Amino acid sequence: MATTDAPGVSALREILRLPTVAMPDPADTPAAPFVELHRLLRKHFPLTHDIGEVIDVPPHGLLIRVPADPDSPTAGTDPIVLMAHMDVVPIGDEHRWSQPPLGGDLVDGVIWGRGTLDDKGQLVAVITAVESLLAEGGRPAREVWLSFGSDEEVMGSGAQSAVAILRERGVTPWFVLDEGGAVASDAFPGVTRPLGVVGVSEKGVLSLRLTASGRGGHASRPTKGGPAARIAAAITRLERRPFPAHLSPATLEMFRRLAPHLPRPVRPLIDRAERFPGALARVMVAAGPEAAALARTTIAVTTLSGSPAINVSPTAVRVGLNLRIAVGETASAATGRIRRIVGRDIEIEVEESHDPSPLSPVDDPAFTVIEQAVTEIFPDAVPVPYVMYAATDSRHFTEICPRVYRFAPFRMSAQQRESIHSYDERLALADFLDGIRWYRALLESLTDIDGVA
Ligand SMILES: [Zn+2]
Repeated sequence: MATTDAPGVSALREILRLPTVAMPDPADTPAAPFVELHRLLRKHFPLTHDIGEVIDVPPHGLLIRVPADPDSPTAGTDPIVLMAHMDVVPIGDEHRWSQPPLGGDLVDGVIWGRGTLDDKGQLVAVITAVESLLAEGGRPAREVWLSFGSDEEVMGSGAQSAVAILRERGVTPWFVLDEGGAVASDAFPGVTRPLGVVGVSEKGVLSLRLTASGRGGHASRPTKGGPAARIAAAITRLERRPFPAHLSPATLEMFRRLAPHLPRPVRPLIDRAERFPGALARVMVAAGPEAAALARTTIAVTTLSGSPAINVSPTAVRVGLNLRIAVGETASAATGRIRRIVGRDIEIEVEESHDPSPLSPVDDPAFTVIEQAVTEIFPDAVPVPYVMYAATDSRHFTEICPRVYRFAPFRMSAQQRESIHSYDERLALADFLDGIRWYRALLESLTDIDGVA
């Protein structure tokens, strides 16, 4: 049975009570909850703070350098960076929650509250593992940097500041591990075992504003081919000509590892996928929006605006497009394709543009270390790489490290995964404690890999 007073539990529950909501403009972010969070970390994890070197990262983030065991053969080799973030999204509609969203309550073996999964649970799990190692008189086999962001949810500049500090210090991490995947049950139709999904890349993001202009005027004398009709035609053309489907090497590797666990009728398709990846990509597009999003760049039509009055034809009609760029493509090539499809009489403005992050290697000792820790603590789970749809702070770390992985060592049901950024976010106490054990296993396995980096 999981004990309710195990190390880390009260720290997590206290930290869950803090409304650490970041605002897009850091000047609007209330500092007090973050200051209190720093105080709680110092109170609960004194050795990490005393033995480690603590560096403030604007706006409210922290970097903590935990020195290596000087006698370890890997002491002088490249460090690892373990990331998490302190900020959370707002609680949303409080009435939808079964337990108070800022209560940190422990009810029937489950810890409730905003941030349990995203991402305070991970933050407290990793620092609890470090603290317990230090408390036993141990030191990591190589230097460990904890990087705790404070503005991940608003895509703030904190992660870039952390990267700048590491770069200044000449740190070239062996690998970086941030939030992203999990030990996910019911993650794939037909697969009964949970999947230890480890993100190895993130899709890119491209937001475009399209505008069609015209004379507009009084609705009593309508003309053909006005801005509304042209935007409507453009949207229809975009739907008819979706981006081509193709599978990234990471997605192919995911299927290769999944194949033995898939229902028998599907396996031949996966076996052929390496020779005919196009066929599998097309099957995925047909399998529904979620699978399709893995197989190609997606376009979502989001904002639409035109005339402010029902008896006035618009002089300008605007539509917002939000694209998620597949690994292997670029945002600028995607913009070019949209331009060709919608035609020259529609104006295009680029509002936001990030290329997909580079693919971190799977056939690599760093991935193996993560994979082995998954198998050790979650023996029923199948570790697989995957490409994330969402963006994390870790994308900035690809500038200083080619091995950036995204995984939180918690078992998460489909329902729990849906609770992220929604309501009833919660983490079983036993799963939280497994997460701490996972980080301990990871820290200890760093000794087993003399000289591989
Ligand atoms: Zn997060």
